Amino acid sequence: MSTYRIGVDLGGTNIAAGLVDENYCILKKKSIKTNLPRTAEAICEDIAALCRTLCDEANIAFDNIAHIGIGSPGIICRGVVNSAANLGFHNTPLADMVAKLTGKPVSLKNDGNAAALGELVAGCGKGKSSLIAVTIGTGVGGGVILNNTIIEGFNGAAGEVGHIIIEAGGRPCGCGARGCFETYCSASALIRDTKEAMIAHPESALHTLAPTLDDVNGKTAFDGMRLGDETATAVVDHFINMLAVGVSSLIQLLQPEIICIGGGVAAEGDYLLLPLREKVVAQTLAGADGMRTTIVCATLGNDAGIIGAAV
Ligand SMILES: [Zn+2]
Repeated sequence: MSTYRIGVDLGGTNIAAGLVDENYCILKKKSIKTNLPRTAEAICEDIAALCRTLCDEANIAFDNIAHIGIGSPGIICRGVVNSAANLGFHNTPLADMVAKLTGKPVSLKNDGNAAALGELVAGCGKGKSSLIAVTIGTGVGGGVILNNTIIEGFNGAAGEVGHIIIEAGGRPCGCGARGCFETYCSASALIRDTKEAMIAHPESALHTLAPTLDDVNGKTAFDGMRLGDETATAVVDHFINMLAVGVSSLIQLLQPEIICIGGGVAAEGDYLLLPLREKVVAQTLAGADGMRTTIVCATLGNDAGIIGAAV
């Protein structure tokens, strides 16, 4: 009986894979270094070997694997990574390459989309049919699921929530545009804003929390706010205001049942969610019977990508 699946989360730093059962539980997980720069062939060989090792270590015959799913960065269409700058992939038929090496059917999705699907089936969106994930990290990643289906667009480039433009002519973004959501609401943006505020305000308590600018992380401004520091509070307010603009735009367009916020900053819990919900409610429309999108923190962390890929 082929009841198991393997989900692979391919990243620029690590390749993580998990053996997933029919209840979307990860039975065994393993991760190796991506070791870039390398050829796509070498990376695919590692993925295939990792899948076999997982089965060996879980004492499950490789024959019992029904299929393999891969989540990869980049623009993905019909099993091909059209472009993924950090991996050096260009029109790389990743699904076929891993299928040939493993003899298994292989599906390939964008990593943000896979993580959103993982949260929908096994995390904060369990039992729902629509969800948008907003993952706050180096950039802002995410994915859109409507009617249990990943929205990829006609060209595979949909769901890049980090690149919706929330300020005309705003901060320059790595994608070439200006004013993208991620230039205000990534962890990198929050850290940069915290550092700039510290330089402008030598009296701020932020200097006690982070003795040098290198000590600043995504938590520093929130910690300063909890101490009642004005400068820190202004940084957090601006961050949450901009986050609310992006989240509100997503809600107005698609009205999903759930929007989940993931990434390190989600650990702030209610310090993030309560003001975010208040601002979003003030600038979005409710639907029938006053129903509104629920904004929550993601619950699966890095496992979301593995489970979503397996699904
Ligand atoms: Zn952008």
